[in-house]
Amino acid sequence: MASFNKFNLDPRIKRIPEGYGYGNAWLLAAENGYVLIDPAVPPEKVELKDQVMALIATHGHYDHVGKADAWRSFNRKLELMIHEAEADMIMDKTLNASLFFGRGIDIAKPDILLRDGQEIELGNNLFLRVFHTPGHTRGSCCFLYLSKPDAERENYIALITGDTVFATDIGRMDLAGGSEEQMRRSLARLRKLREELPSDLPVLPGHGSATTLEKLQKNYWFMHH
Ligand SMILES: [Zn+2]
Repeated sequence: MASFNKFNLDPRIKRIPEGYGYGNAWLLAAENGYVLIDPAVPPEKVELKDQVMALIATHGHYDHVGKADAWRSFNRKLELMIHEAEADMIMDKTLNASLFFGRGIDIAKPDILLRDGQEIELGNNLFLRVFHTPGHTRGSCCFLYLSKPDAERENYIALITGDTVFATDIGRMDLAGGSEEQMRRSLARLRKLREELPSDLPVLPGHGSATTLEKLQKNYWFMHH
């Protein structure tokens, strides 16, 4: 998307277009390589594939985790992390929505289950903080990518939102595990989080253009009270 290129991403972040529905996978720098957020693209399409150290999924839809098994056969040391409420979903071609989109893909079970509030250590003082934000699916998560140079300071790098929040809309709630009520609560939580984070923090969604917290707040109904 043309508008995407106007956005200067932190050099620790690389976007990999997924192709389907303007999907985004993200490589985030870790100590010894990168973590891949949303293994939706196969290893052969990722130039830095040999540097991928872990697979983390924002949620269990196949257009976000569909290539997790290809990655785990490419490198048997790779583990797939996903929220615990999403585990059963990825293994079922109906629930992971791959049948809905015309392909039937069961994915092998995740290796590590994530919980709200947990921090994934990436080394080099880099972390991913897990925010469970159900609504699009039961186990949808946002991840706050941050560095902690010392015990007192936290530097925020980006918020990865999956299909919970896009630059101009929110995720659909009509597929398996979707819930308008849960989405309302998750959006309220993101609004609260917005007050604690820098307004120019990049927001990296699962589809379409990147944005910032400030732009979401200024322009879109879902970020207002
Ligand atoms: Zn989805």
